Amino acid sequence: MSLDISNWKIEDVLRSLRSRETTATEICQASLARIAAENPKNNSLITVTQERALARAAAIDRMAASGERLPPLAGVPVAVKDVIVTEGTRTTCGSRILENYVPPYTATAVERMEAAGAIVVGKANCDEFAMGSSNENSAFGPVRNPYDLERVSGGSSGGSAAAVASGMAVAALGSDTGGSVRQPASFCGVVGLMPTYGRVSRYGLVAYASSLDHIGPVGRSVKDVAVLLSAIAGHDPLDSTSAAVPVPNYVSELDGNLKGFKIGVPREYFAEGLSSGVRTQVEAGLQALGKLGCEMVEITLPHTEYATACYYIIATAEASANLARYDGVRYGYRAPGAASLSEMYQKTRGQGFGAEVKRRIILGTYVLSAGYYDAYYLKAQKVRHLIAADFSNAFEKVDAIAAPTAPTPAFRIGEKTANPLEMYLSDVYTLPGSLAGIPGISVPCGWSSAEGDGGSSSEIKKLPVGIQLLGKHFDEARLLRLAHQFEMAGGVA
Ligand code: GLN
Repeated sequence: MSLDISNWKIEDVLRSLRSRETTATEICQASLARIAAENPKNNSLITVTQERALARAAAIDRMAASGERLPPLAGVPVAVKDVIVTEGTRTTCGSRILENYVPPYTATAVERMEAAGAIVVGKANCDEFAMGSSNENSAFGPVRNPYDLERVSGGSSGGSAAAVASGMAVAALGSDTGGSVRQPASFCGVVGLMPTYGRVSRYGLVAYASSLDHIGPVGRSVKDVAVLLSAIAGHDPLDSTSAAVPVPNYVSELDGNLKGFKIGVPREYFAEGLSSGVRTQVEAGLQALGKLGCEMVEITLPHTEYATACYYIIATAEASANLARYDGVRYGYRAPGAASLSEMYQKTRGQGFGAEVKRRIILGTYVLSAGYYDAYYLKAQKVRHLIAADFSNAFEKVDAIAAPTAPTPAFRIGEKTANPLEMYLSDVYTLPGSLAGIPGISVPCGWSSAEGDGGSSSEIKKLPVGIQLLGKHFDEARLLRLAHQFEMAGGVA
């Protein structure tokens, strides 16, 4: 029987390589076989990097044969969201405008992961330029949820989450600007972390909203996410916003007591709009945390209701500036047959960008325009401070905050596409943490029946639910410990 790695964790890869039970080449082939079987169903990967992956696997096997000590990610098949650049491998950002763009350099996070032995097996599908919450905004088609192919994977890192959930890769890198690692992780039943802003270098992450963009790991366990974070975190002189804060050993910090650990439960996250299925699961999650010795404290984050408006002003403003570079001259696609330079710009951008990206460029340009700057952009910046202050105040009383990751389980493909505002509102629980720059992790918290599906089919589908844990700046170690203990105790059924 051929090797099946679809449930493997990072430690399974290492154990089997160290014991010489398998080779990195066999593991890589197993991953590629799984991709060949699953990718046509869920569309997680835009590009499969077969040749390069096999060559790197062979190099790991030579290391193993020579008795060299294997690095922490040796032979681990990983997927990389296609907004993270990879030298020599096209990086599309889920956009027509970069359909054939082959970057001349590799992102620091990928370089570090590869230096630790990881093997990139493919570039993961995503919403165009990471703008979206469902992966339906990709020029390469939506990613389908592995648990129900009629439903979305979540977004924008839907391909990263679905690739891990469907066993194509053991782990993945995504990016999170307003929830894009955490929300698809919750929809696909995997673990996803948005680290503190500045914790992981953004060098080589194609910019969407630079003051909010983060690279974050996705895995099948909290420990895998901790291993990945240890590999990619730390200062990078190539990213001026990356922080020179020492990187703890996230893996050795996973074990430890949670007695007396105070967890804030924000009232605003359990209010109207939260589906009953998610509420039930997350409340069970809080009880499970209680059993671990944590003390629950009700808290208030009073400016939560302004986060969505605030985020969609700041993010679109930054996006409108960042996306000015796609002009048909410097990068990617250039429309043919233009009679003048301005016509070339117009045609290139008109044909190259999808509807959501255009909507955001227009919105962002508007909120930055002379007459409206104070009313929208400047005001949003002030609100952002208030939201960040809500969290600082809460963290004077509690060690971490627990909440749902998303208000509903995965919704149906097409369900929210006609109404962008409804789509934006589905980010309600992930946006505040992003605006505050604090770390957040989504951990599987059992299953919910699909909302509104009761009785419509003979078999009611169960969909994954995620619980979100938010921590203080650079407190990933404790956040991961909390998430790991929750997972080890069995989470929630
Ligand atoms: N859904 C949010 C948006 O569309 C967040 C996306 C992200 O985190 N990249 O902007």
